[in-house]
Amino acid sequence: MSLAPASSKYETHEHDVLIIGAGGAGLRAALEALGHGARVGVVCKSLLGKAHTVMAEGGIAAAMGNVDSADDWKTHFRDTMRGGKFLNNWRMAQIHAQEAPDRVRELEQWGALFDRTDAGNILQRAFGGHTYKRLCHVGDRTGLEMIRTLQDRGVELGFDCYMECTVTRLLSEGDRVAGAFGYWRESGRFVVFKAKSVVIATGGIGKAWRVTSNSWEYTGDGMALAYDLGAELMDMEFVQFHPTGMVWPPGVQGILVTEAVRGEGGTLKNRLGERFMEKYDPKRMELSTRDVVARAIYTEVREGRGTEHGGAYLDISQKPAEYVKRKLPSMYHQFLELADVDITKHPMEVGPTCHYMMGGIRVDAETAESTVPGLFAAGEAAAGLHGANRLGGNSLSDLLVFGRRAGLFAAEHANRTAPPAIDSAQIEAGARELAAPFEHAGGESPYAVQRDLQETMQNLVGIFRNDADLKKALEELEKLKARADRVSIEGSRLYNPGWHLARDLQSMLTVAEAVAISAIARTESRGAHSRIDFPQLDAEWGRKNNTVVRENTEMKLRQSPVPAVPDELKQLLAD
Ligand SMILES: Cc1cc2nc3c(=O)[nH]c(=O)nc-3n(C[C@H](O)[C@H](O)[C@H](O)COP(=O)(O)OP(=O)(O)OC[C@H]3O[C@@H](n4cnc5c(N)ncnc54)[C@H](O)[C@@H]3O)c2cc1C
Repeated sequence: MSLAPASSKYETHEHDVLIIGAGGAGLRAALEALGHGARVGVVCKSLLGKAHTVMAEGGIAAAMGNVDSADDWKTHFRDTMRGGKFLNNWRMAQIHAQEAPDRVRELEQWGALFDRTDAGNILQRAFGGHTYKRLCHVGDRTGLEMIRTLQDRGVELGFDCYMECTVTRLLSEGDRVAGAFGYWRESGRFVVFKAKSVVIATGGIGKAWRVTSNSWEYTGDGMALAYDLGAELMDMEFVQFHPTGMVWPPGVQGILVTEAVRGEGGTLKNRLGERFMEKYDPKRMELSTRDVVARAIYTEVREGRGTEHGGAYLDISQKPAEYVKRKLPSMYHQFLELADVDITKHPMEVGPTCHYMMGGIRVDAETAESTVPGLFAAGEAAAGLHGANRLGGNSLSDLLVFGRRAGLFAAEHANRTAPPAIDSAQIEAGARELAAPFEHAGGESPYAVQRDLQETMQNLVGIFRNDADLKKALEELEKLKARADRVSIEGSRLYNPGWHLARDLQSMLTVAEAVAISAIARTESRGAHSRIDFPQLDAEWGRKNNTVVRENTEMKLRQSPVPAVPDELKQLLAD
């Protein structure tokens, strides 16, 4: 299929602040930028309101002290740093712990209806790695309420929303960002966004693994876009495997079973009826951190004590049925409808599922600006807050705290910046790249390449890793890149999912390579990164973040020092 010159084929929109992604981070950024007088555009791959945030179940972590009055930001800071095995950016962890309660109260003022304590305050539940009951929640549908609230407010304040539109390239002028290029998913027509500031809020990369809780949208686009423009990616080896995904029936494998089940008192047992967490973390048991629980389940299965379908039993049936239905309505329906299991009477079968990316675009702790001027990032696409492992509930609070900061500083940046010039050569290059799969006759299907990518990452870059597997993964990724460059697409650009996947594959492969090379370099086990050949923590590696940057066409790996925690905060981290 041939294309007319791109310039005759695209529409152009202009904004002060362009936000790529309409999940919690993107919407919170949009509200803040609007509040500071910016003309804001928000682009999203799917419909507004259908981002990952809407799937969030368990809650938002914020030290409000409504249930456990001893809770405060200092304890939240300490829990986050300990959970992240001290690889976190301490300043981000401090800002996050200090600002999260205000961000939750603000949501409430905008109309979010949380579950309540008897005294009428926002109810908070226990979650793994949190010292106190800290997760503000709405049953197990917290993300839905959060998105609904942010979206309503955004529509009221007024931003331009470009739905079902995929950004495939960031545009630059000199060393600064100048906008973005992409296509409408339905018509396949090209679109150009001119912007003084751009915020990446595109989420994670879970779709590069076979068993995942993530949806089709999580193909690492924002990280790859930023990397292509010269931004640094950081901590890419840290991929979180949530301990509890569905394992049966096969069609629903990986779908998340919220940690709220354990927060509400659910117990984990193996085939022999043993509460095996006693062996792995006798103090915290089921409320240990996700990395520990995921490895525990994996180990039980590997050593022959797994359930019929290769998982563990998660049981909440000791609680009254009405309580389970009220506190975990989505889980109740999920198991009844998808697995024919009534969780008020029977245990669930669960196993690890790829869930969350701790690594991402390196940002400044105060402003959320990346290493490229004018390019900001927030939410799961950004790195730094969670270090080597994220605590449950800390993502939704991250979106609010750093989404707000990204919007604020993106608006300020736009206020002091002249409108950029758009370089048509960059647009032509973006259009050529998108057209390429139509011009390869007889190539293979992008679905075959994605399937093999998922197998590679699942089998060689999974929960337990070793040098030989990781190097094999890199070799496989090289072959997959060559295959992805040759895939061919039938038909036209009118709603063509195969064509969409052909482009998404490029992002997935870039990010997967960054994960693999970072994982090879880190010769220790820390948080979510478990090396069978290096099972211990290494103090030297505890002082280094891995960063990945593009030099010409080469991916370069470097180390940078973890910012030193100031003395007054160090005291908080001591036992
Ligand atoms: C099932 C599930 C349950 C969870 N439960 C919790 C919980 O209880 N508590 C908690 O703290 N965390 C939870 N998490 C994690 C949390 O929900 C996510 O980390 C968080 O919502 C990510 O928000 P975000 O704004 O960064 O990205 P998202 O909400 O995923 O939004 C990404 C946006 O980017 C858009 N996008 C992506 N690529 C492009 C592109 N190329 N062009 C244009 N747009 C693009 C998408 O369309 C989407 O609008 C859960 C995650 C899952 C999957």
